[in-house]
Amino acid sequence: MTEKTSLQTTVCVVGGGPAGLVLGYLLARMGVEVTVLEKHADFLRDFRGDTVHGSTLELLRDCGIKQRFDALPQQHLQEMCINFGGESLKLGDFQGVKPFDYICLIAQWDFLNFMASEAKALPSFRLIMQCEATDIISESEQVKGVLATTPEGALEIRADLVVACDGRSSTIRKVLKLPVTNLGAPMDVLWFRLPRKETDPSGLEGRLGAGHMMVMINRGDYWQIAYLVPKGSDAQLRTQPITDFQQQVVALVPYLQERSALIRSWDEVKTLVVTVDRLQRWHVPGALLIGDAAHAMSPIGGVGINMAIQDAVAAANVIGRALQARHILDETTLTEVQNKREAGVKRMQSLQVIAQNRVISAVLRAKGKEPSVPLVLRWLARFRWFRNIPARIIGYGFGREHVDTTLFKAK
Ligand SMILES: Cc1cc2nc3c(=O)[nH]c(=O)nc-3n(C[C@H](O)[C@H](O)[C@H](O)COP(=O)(O)OP(=O)(O)OC[C@H]3O[C@@H](n4cnc5c(N)ncnc54)[C@H](O)[C@@H]3O)c2cc1C
Repeated sequence: MTEKTSLQTTVCVVGGGPAGLVLGYLLARMGVEVTVLEKHADFLRDFRGDTVHGSTLELLRDCGIKQRFDALPQQHLQEMCINFGGESLKLGDFQGVKPFDYICLIAQWDFLNFMASEAKALPSFRLIMQCEATDIISESEQVKGVLATTPEGALEIRADLVVACDGRSSTIRKVLKLPVTNLGAPMDVLWFRLPRKETDPSGLEGRLGAGHMMVMINRGDYWQIAYLVPKGSDAQLRTQPITDFQQQVVALVPYLQERSALIRSWDEVKTLVVTVDRLQRWHVPGALLIGDAAHAMSPIGGVGINMAIQDAVAAANVIGRALQARHILDETTLTEVQNKREAGVKRMQSLQVIAQNRVISAVLRAKGKEPSVPLVLRWLARFRWFRNIPARIIGYGFGREHVDTTLFKAK
């Protein structure tokens, strides 16, 4: 049997997703000794959100790494359309939105690999892959670190602070038994890909039909497609022949007629269970939770990654400042992170829940009748200032955080 080994660090970040890697990178830029644990061997997981919004582009610019990021394969999205039963309406427009008038569509593994390689160049950063946190170390009602498994055996990581960035199924959240407010969601999402032709529309388009809804994201030579189904209906749907599903896709997007046959089996269609929830308290003595671990976001607006990164920026500023000024990380510090981020998260989730209840539920329940464009939307969509509002909210969120680069150590 292999022996348990242990290591000591200042901040132990559990989870190498967008929140965890950005937090690790920023703390390392501030000279904080940080160890990030990621349970997988690589970042090559498909069907995660693939968007980087304006607030994150600003962060990359402020850190001086945007030029290198820009060299990665990506597409830029400048408008969002919704197609009601065949009639398309532009409802989001980034033209004129500052400082970045686009959303960047980039494979999430490219973004995570990029952040990991930038962070690895910093002396106080350590990333341990295939390292899964399974429990916390608790002494005198204070979290003192985590226990983890690795291919080499058990690992004990002792830390001044544990930051859980381990996503919506967070182990740390479960172990700490933190109370959760569940906001519910009427839908789950089926994800799949189909080839894209040059003659297809560009950009991002939502398609609404009677009882069906689909969002298509232009990824260059393919469409990444999210097909919304009523919550819990996935198992029943999968008992039908795949040809029935192909027909439902074509009913919404007729130009996919020939390509729909490329969805050969249900194995090519992944189900993502949608959860919208948030913790009432994001911290306990010695531990902080951010990103989806603190508040799972609905896929509406594709804002989850950027909300998680905004949490990471707020946490890095507060932790970096506390360590440089007072050399301690107490409950006041952790409360400050929640106070900075909670109001923005609540506002965004409220908008998502309104969209879920007023639009998505209604469309998924509708039988037979194609939805038509509400008159008020048709009128509002004529004005760019109106189309800029959803673009600004999606691109920059509420109460955006700027990294405090005065805390950065000289390289
Ligand atoms: C259907 C769907 C579509 C979405 N589309 C978009 C989109 O287009 N754009 C967008 O911005 N957001 C989207 N989101 C939301 C987005 O995926 C999340 O909000 C975002 O990834 C949260 O980032 P995170 O770093 O907090 O957590 P995650 O991205 O979940 O990262 C958590 C990381 O922790 C690791 N981990 C988990 N447990 C452990 C453990 N015990 N020990 C060590 N490591 C662990 C995981 O492997 C993972 O790498 C979508 C969500 C859904 C459900």
